[in-house]
Amino acid sequence: MKSISEIYSQLTVPKCIAITMHQKPDPDAMGSALGLYHFLLQFGHTVAVVSPTNWADFLDWMPANDKVLDYENYKQKEKADTSLINADWLFCLDFNTISRTRNMAPTIKNLSCTKILIDHHQQPEVESFDYGVSDVTKSSTCEMVYDFIIASGHPDKINIETAECLYAGVMGDTGSFRYPSASASLHRMVATLKDKGLLHTPVHDNVYDNYLENRLRFIGHVLQNRMEIMYEYNAALIAIPKNDLIKYEIKTGDTEGLVNYPLSIQGIKLAAIVIDRDEERKWSFRSKGDIDVNTFARENFSGGGHFNASGGRTYDSLEKTVQKFKLAIKENASQLQ
Ligand code: 5GP
Ligand code: MN
Repeated sequence: MKSISEIYSQLTVPKCIAITMHQKPDPDAMGSALGLYHFLLQFGHTVAVVSPTNWADFLDWMPANDKVLDYENYKQKEKADTSLINADWLFCLDFNTISRTRNMAPTIKNLSCTKILIDHHQQPEVESFDYGVSDVTKSSTCEMVYDFIIASGHPDKINIETAECLYAGVMGDTGSFRYPSASASLHRMVATLKDKGLLHTPVHDNVYDNYLENRLRFIGHVLQNRMEIMYEYNAALIAIPKNDLIKYEIKTGDTEGLVNYPLSIQGIKLAAIVIDRDEERKWSFRSKGDIDVNTFARENFSGGGHFNASGGRTYDSLEKTVQKFKLAIKENASQLQ
């Protein structure tokens, strides 16, 4: 993978560009894709954003979200494939391995266009990309798209649409500026976005105060009945069976953030949630301080991510994967205690 700086001079030459991100995009994945979209449009490029899957309703407010193609929506797949095949450039945002694009992965692997990575996850598959930047010290891919815009010499092209999208991702991936990754330069970026006219409160409201009643009832049920605290390991586990999802009419995005609740208990350093989805049992891990959940997810649940936030999956039953988790926690007891 060559340095992303080598494409700066080509930015002003109109081309067909596709942008994609990881499956089930979160605010950082969708925000970086749409923030970049609004930036690139200003050079006269033809730009398409293709998401590997659907996404949570709380991202629908983002400017041009209605133009994003969902690769798993059979009505949009043909258009999505055409955009990918015609692309001169493909930007790959907020993922480290092409497998994170789920059903799109074989198509992306076969494309002969120039592939450009912008990402902050650990252990990137750099051989899959022609140009790019991978930096695990960055708070978010949105911060990196901002850096890309500035370093390529076009700060004047940060419009209000780009500002709103990039702010959403930064907010999401820093836990609203709480995690250590919220650096001084990140706060300076936000100051610049504010100078450009960004209103940050509506972004918080749109993402965090935009659920239906059923989701809050569901959280009440889960915290009461599905959360297990393992004080001896400073760990907590939430395991959600499929029936709960059906009973409370849980949609994509409704379980976002649930994994963080146990971390508010004194002494809890690792929180895990497993959700019994149709196609897989999906794990999320969060930790505090020196507990490495990237390695934990990689070694036990075919996943990865960041040092303090990661995910994974298994095709075992819920009961079996919970047992496996408990065994893995025991094996890692020395780090946790
Ligand atoms: P989440 O728990 O929100 O799904 O994911 C937490 C973080 O880990 C996010 O940055 C997400 O992109 C990353 N992540 C989740 N699942 C996987 C996975 O299977 N592989 C890798 N490499 N990263 C993941
Ligand atoms: Mn991210």
